Amino acid sequence: MTTQRETATTHHVLVLGAGYAGMAAAIQLAARTKGREDVRVTLVNPQERFTERLRLHMSATGQQVAELDIPELLEGTDARFVRGWVTAVDADAKTVRVDDDRVLSYDTLVYGLGSVADVATVPGVEDHAYTLDSAQDAELLADRLARLGRGTVVIGGGGLTGVESAAEIAEQHPDLDVVLLSRQEPGAAMGPRPRAYLQAALERLGVKVRSGVEVVKVLPGSVELAGGESVAADAVLWTSGTRVSPLAAAAGLAVDERGRVVTDATLRSVSHPDVYAVGDAAAIRQGYGVMHGTCQGGMPTGVHAAVSIVRALDGRRPRPFRFGYYHTPVSLGRNDAVVQFTHPDDSPRRVYLTGRLAARYKETVTASPWPTYGRMKKMPASGAFWPRGGRFTRIRGAR
Ligand SMILES: Cc1cc2nc3c(=O)[nH]c(=O)nc-3n(C[C@H](O)[C@H](O)[C@H](O)COP(=O)(O)OP(=O)(O)OC[C@H]3O[C@@H](n4cnc5c(N)ncnc54)[C@H](O)[C@@H]3O)c2cc1C
Repeated sequence: MTTQRETATTHHVLVLGAGYAGMAAAIQLAARTKGREDVRVTLVNPQERFTERLRLHMSATGQQVAELDIPELLEGTDARFVRGWVTAVDADAKTVRVDDDRVLSYDTLVYGLGSVADVATVPGVEDHAYTLDSAQDAELLADRLARLGRGTVVIGGGGLTGVESAAEIAEQHPDLDVVLLSRQEPGAAMGPRPRAYLQAALERLGVKVRSGVEVVKVLPGSVELAGGESVAADAVLWTSGTRVSPLAAAAGLAVDERGRVVTDATLRSVSHPDVYAVGDAAAIRQGYGVMHGTCQGGMPTGVHAAVSIVRALDGRRPRPFRFGYYHTPVSLGRNDAVVQFTHPDDSPRRVYLTGRLAARYKETVTASPWPTYGRMKKMPASGAFWPRGGRFTRIRGAR
């Protein structure tokens, strides 16, 4: 990072969270404001290493993933990196408290604190289950699985994270019994053929799928289902549902029923227009409804927020954000996958990929964010392409 001079009127943009969305916002801002004395960009994150959440199920089975260094990526720009944990946001004073003892002020805030597994709804999950929220969580599970040798791993939640994790654990630890417990059948949102493929792949890998069940309690050594049945478990991985940081609500920002920051069409908080919200932490409405948390949608939100901030700084009006989904790629171990192509509202198209071709597609998608950030640093406009979703995303009255 270069040292940047500041003036009394320097505009401070503070980006909270270097996940897929916050990182996209920070690198876009850094690239678009390089050399400007009137703008100062700061990124806050607890680790210098970028967490590839899309690979956490691989880390959880002891596979090595790349070391991606955030300050190194920011080198050559004027952006500053602050390592720390945000403990409070004061939206009136426009300050952020880091690790309780440092205070950073902002003129514009980009709120990108992401989401984590919801461990609060089922008793015992918080105390007895593993999660895939961070690299450290994944390492803890990897240690446990490596030490187990034989035994049963129960995965609570048959969404895509649960499916990918079950397949990965079964493939990397063939001596373990893997049980996937889920309300819905795995791949429920896919078309019938890709769903059948996904389920057959789980069966081939030896994953025991039990759908239509409800976990009501996690205990040391077992989980309890509604109806009283107990399922033995030497380790439990919880992937059912997500929740967001309580900081936005505590700061008085308008949030939805899940605590996500409610944004206007340009991604600004509806209650505090100097705050932009991106990624999983934001409730962003499109024509089809509120976006759900994904990397494919999160990165564009970060880019759009950055572009909007720079437009506003230059006295231009920010544009409405529009995004349409295009795929759901799901890994089924290292050599198999299923990719469901989707309509912009995330409903399944008839087209899908399976097998090695799908596995290569999934790997390409998973590996792409970091090089994309590198490209954006040099050519910010290269990051501004994503499907806008046509009529699916249009909101009546929005321009
Ligand atoms: C195993 C797994 C597989 C997945 N596969 C896919 C996939 O194939 N495709 C897809 O689109 N999505 C996938 N997802 C979902 C995807 O990872 C998320 O939607 C995405 O990470 C959201 O990006 P984000 O930037 O909003 O948040 P995150 O990536 O969660 O990043 C948030 C950042 O904020 C930081 N942070 C949080 N709280 C604080 C705080 N108080 N102070 C400072 N920093 C803080 C975190 O450390 C993190 O760096 C997967 C998720 C998992 C767990």
